Formats: sequence, structure tokens, C-alpha cells
Amino acid sequence: VELYATPIKGKNDSIVGAVVVLHDVSKWRRVEQMRTEFVANVSHELRTPITAVKGFAETLLDGALEHPDMRRQFIKIIYEESDRLSRLVNDLLELSRIESGHVVMQFEPCEINELVRTTVDKLVHQAGQNGLVLESHPAGQPVYAEVARDRVSQVLINLIGNAIAYTPEGGRIDVTVEDGVDQVIVRVKDTGIGIPQDDLPRLFERFYRVDKARARRSGGTGLGLAIVKHIVEAHKGKVWVDSYPGRGSTFSFTLPKRQGDE
Ligand code: ADP
Repeated sequence: VELYATPIKGKNDSIVGAVVVLHDVSKWRRVEQMRTEFVANVSHELRTPITAVKGFAETLLDGALEHPDMRRQFIKIIYEESDRLSRLVNDLLELSRIESGHVVMQFEPCEINELVRTTVDKLVHQAGQNGLVLESHPAGQPVYAEVARDRVSQVLINLIGNAIAYTPEGGRIDVTVEDGVDQVIVRVKDTGIGIPQDDLPRLFERFYRVDKARARRSGGTGLGLAIVKHIVEAHKGKVWVDSYPGRGSTFSFTLPKRQGDE
């Protein structure tokens, strides 16, 4: 709290009172602190791949180019790190566009079973390469909602991508559509490593990761779930997770069947 006080003077300059202004700045401070943390996080996330690219390029120039084995390995690392860099920049741009409200969401009536199936089909191969079974389970009847098709598809891609990254070989991922009264519920359930209870409240924050080293190996940017939350909320839906370490996670989100219905 910031406090300002000004004396009120009466006759002969005697002080007869005071005006005291109490200004609650805690919210502003919090916003300011989040902004500072975000900039620090972004800088760190960008610096890591840049350092790798620079280091390996330097080593190549300093002579490693002459060794065919090293040459191949180092160029592969440079390629992978620049790929991470470009994904990071894309995700940052996407997030800032959605947050600033500059993305115009094109809501259109959409059959959700079909939208889910089409998106799942695109990822079945990738899941298979990781030794995982990925299946979609439509609701018993057509379910219509007004959604921005590409954005909802992006939500599914992010959730299924995570399920693939955090589920050991031999596991499975099931994507289910449930028809509710006013809303559709979509669930992405995996049999993966799960998430400790203590981490759940902060999971949808930008750059929050349970296990930094593991997340880095998985190639994630740490922004996937923040983007998911923004897109779902732009549809006036909700997203949440149920998870048990060692048993798997279920990410669920809702979409109102008609825009304007809360
Ligand atoms: P990342 O790019 O690191 O995957 P996300 O925002 O998509 O970033 O996810 C944040 C963190 O949440 C991940 O680093 C991981 O620790 C955890 N997480 C997300 N999805 C799952 C899942 N299906 N199973 C286990 N952990 C998960």
C-alpha cells in the first residue's frame, strides 16, 4: 500500500486535520512482477538454443569441419536447436496475439466428433512411432458447437502432443467427445508419467514445467498449455487436468454449444 498525507491548515497556519490517501498497488505490483518474470524467462529460453548454435558453429569453424563424423553430428544439433528456436518464437507470437485480443476468432458451426477425428488422424502416425496407441471416441450422436476450427484443432494438437511426449512406450492415448446439456466436453487421457498434485495449480502458466530437463528433451517450448488455456477461454470454455503420478493424466476442456452461452 502506498500512503500519501497532506496537512489541512486552519487559521494562523495551525494544522487542523489531514488528508490521507491510501493507494492499493498490490495488483499493479503483481502485474509488474509477472511481466519482469516473463521477460527473464523468455530471455533464458532464447539464450539456451542460441548459445548451442553459436558454440557448435564455432567448433565447426575451428576445425571440426574436417572430421566427417563430428561435422554431421554438430550440424544436426544446430538444426535441432534452430528448430526449437523457431517453435519458441512462433509460440510466443501466437500467445501474444491471443492475449492482446488481436486474433480474430472465426467462430463457425462445427461438428465436434468430426473435428476431433480429423485432428487425431493426423497424429496417429507420430504416436505409433513412439510406440503408443492413439484413438478417438466420438459421442453417440453428432455434436454441434460454434468454434474457431483451427484454434480448437491447435488445442488438441498441443494436448495430444504432450500426451505423446510424456507417455512411455506401450501406453495409450484416448480422446473422447461427450455431449452435455449446454456444452461439449473433450478429454485427452494418457497412461503416462502423470503430474504431482503440487504442480497442478501452476501447470497452465507460461514456461511452467514439472521436470525441466525432461521437458527440454521432449522439445517442448513450455508454452503449449498456456496457449490451450487462452484458446479455450476465448471460447468461454474451461480447461482442467486430473492426474496421478505413475498412472497418467486426463486433460479435459469444454466448449459451449452456442456462443454467448456461459
Ligand atoms: P512443454 O512444452 O514443456 O510440454 P506445456 O505448457 O505443454 O510445455 O506443458 C507444461 C508442463 O506440463 C510440461 O513441461 C510437463 O511437465 C507437464 N505436462 C503437460 N502435459 C503432460 C502430460 N500429458 N503428462 C505429464 N506431464 C505433462
